[in-house]
Amino acid sequence: MGTAPRPLALRAARILTGDGEPARPDAVVLVRGGAIEAVCAATDPLPDDTVVLDLGDATLLPGFVDAHAHLTLPADRRGYEAVHELPDPDLLAFGRANAERHLRCGVTTVRDNGARGTLGVRLRDLLAGAPAAPRVLAAGRPLTPPGGHFHFCGGTAGTPAEIRDAVHRLADEGVDHIKIIASGGGTAGSRPEECTYSGEHLRAAVGAARARGLRTAAHCRAAESARQAVAAGVDCLEHLDFLRPVAGGDPTVEYDAETVRMIRDAGTYLSMTMQAGGYDTLLDQRGRPDPDERVVARLERYFRDKLGVLRRLLDDGLGERIVISTDAGPADTRFGRFHLGLALAAEAGYPAADVLRAATTRAAEVCGLGASTGRITPGHAADLVAVGGDVLADVARAADVRLVLARGTVVGTGIPA
Ligand SMILES: [Zn+2]
Repeated sequence: MGTAPRPLALRAARILTGDGEPARPDAVVLVRGGAIEAVCAATDPLPDDTVVLDLGDATLLPGFVDAHAHLTLPADRRGYEAVHELPDPDLLAFGRANAERHLRCGVTTVRDNGARGTLGVRLRDLLAGAPAAPRVLAAGRPLTPPGGHFHFCGGTAGTPAEIRDAVHRLADEGVDHIKIIASGGGTAGSRPEECTYSGEHLRAAVGAARARGLRTAAHCRAAESARQAVAAGVDCLEHLDFLRPVAGGDPTVEYDAETVRMIRDAGTYLSMTMQAGGYDTLLDQRGRPDPDERVVARLERYFRDKLGVLRRLLDDGLGERIVISTDAGPADTRFGRFHLGLALAAEAGYPAADVLRAATTRAAEVCGLGASTGRITPGHAADLVAVGGDVLADVARAADVRLVLARGTVVGTGIPA
């Protein structure tokens, strides 16, 4: 009818604005036309035509921001090589379905950290025009040496000059940030505990990205790759597993206090992909009557190490630099289970209020979106999630999503948008 949208008032038992304040009891968030208009007391008068939705005993907080995912990967345990035999339309279809799964679990912004060819940007633009979808930022093809981790995306660059050219090509295509593969990973023939690039390569990537106004995120599973990436000025380290090679054996995890000191001095962000690497499989195995004890033992050791790293980072005062992300897409890490990483972070001793900030306000900052989303404040996008009960008392309650608003559009509740 062409009339202005009616304002929507969301009332909840507690509202966590993301401003670092304690939860506000019995407050109301007024939303109009995709943006937050006001945060007021439940007793304040509302505009006459307001649609009021009382969420009851729920916590309303900023929509989750997943700063590390791969939307075009199916998370169905297939290897990268098998997935990348599929044609583009199949990968785009995974992307649309994964975006919807993530949105329904409260993720209103996804930073895609690597997709084949131009699929990342194409998916981002497709979803930007969809009625209800998360906001997507796309790295496009990750920079990797020939044969390196994620080489199947087509972002191969071997020399510093090739890296600079690749960054400019990506910038011309309209990517939102640059993803650098600084160590090996799960790609066949690649070793996570080994560096892929030298400091000179990483500086070339960071320099070209900065010249184009783009942030950088570096995949750093090897301890040495993290040290080099911080020294090169990378904005955000991904995974941070601190792996060290062992001659003739499996790598070990060795927390490196010197690198951590460099991270603190440089103000680098750390994107901790908590549930990546098999947590879905571990939960699945634990739920079976006949679990594969070898798989369980291997995964329990892996997650004990991962939680140990997070605990050390918190002890060393890095809590303010951390974001909690998923790395959903590869292997078994499914979309729509954002709460799992939050619960794991809490298990490592990260207080619930800090975990939630690391998954909303700070994650938005990491993505360069701190001025438009990640907080419940007038003028910000109406990206909101309501979860049942008091999520500050138990962060695992984030599994109980009652309502999601993506840029003002109500998702999946039967309430008219
Ligand atoms: Zn990843």
